[in-house]
Amino acid sequence: CGIVGILGRGPVAAQVVDALKRLEYRGYDSAGVATLDGGRLDRRRAEGKLRNLEEKLAVTPLAGASGIGHTRWATHGRPNETNAHPHATARIAVVHNGIIENFRELKAELVADGAYFESETDTEVVAQLVSRELERGRSPAEAVATVLPRLKGAFALAFLFTGEDDLMIGARHGAPLAVGYGQGEMYLGSDALALAPFTDSITYLDDGDWAVLTRAGATIHDHGGGVVTRPRQQIAQSA
Ligand code: GLU
Repeated sequence: CGIVGILGRGPVAAQVVDALKRLEYRGYDSAGVATLDGGRLDRRRAEGKLRNLEEKLAVTPLAGASGIGHTRWATHGRPNETNAHPHATARIAVVHNGIIENFRELKAELVADGAYFESETDTEVVAQLVSRELERGRSPAEAVATVLPRLKGAFALAFLFTGEDDLMIGARHGAPLAVGYGQGEMYLGSDALALAPFTDSITYLDDGDWAVLTRAGATIHDHGGGVVTRPRQQIAQSA
């Protein structure tokens, strides 16, 4: 339902949660955040309000200057902690808005291939598919580019990758996603409102676009893989 991603200069978990609070008006049933710290992925998730996630983070904090977060409005799988995003494998973490309509077929294919699924969500097929491409030796960008054309439905996605502290990938297909530009920081948000505390400069991805972000900037690709330029917009910054 709500997506936030930050490649920051200091610890980002609290910033991610604060940005998610700006998307609370959309409604949600659970929430979660994943960060990369020294190349290692870790996550915290909680059923219910962001308050519950904050309580978990207070007890077991998440370090790391790269983070993605999500507020979930369940479509596939009960609203509980196991089904809350981010979904993760040893290699990646992903948050997802929308629905992967062909997830049953994809799941069957992955299970036949030996994959083990932890959740009941449609989202976890994306985590597993991208992971499998990485295992086959593809780079993160190649893995995402290979998997996106296989996904049917309306969705927005944000990914982090184990061992890649300066990398975040976002994709838009029928659900909004914006890239935000900061000073040595970069952001992803499903809603400009979520990015307003961080920057006044954003780019809305076009349908079918996917973006590779580092702290130095973003490279946007269209559905064919070619590099494209999308207009930058000024938004009102607000604390
Ligand atoms: N279809 C996904 C799920 O049920 C994402 C729902 C959402 O947009 O929050 O977990």
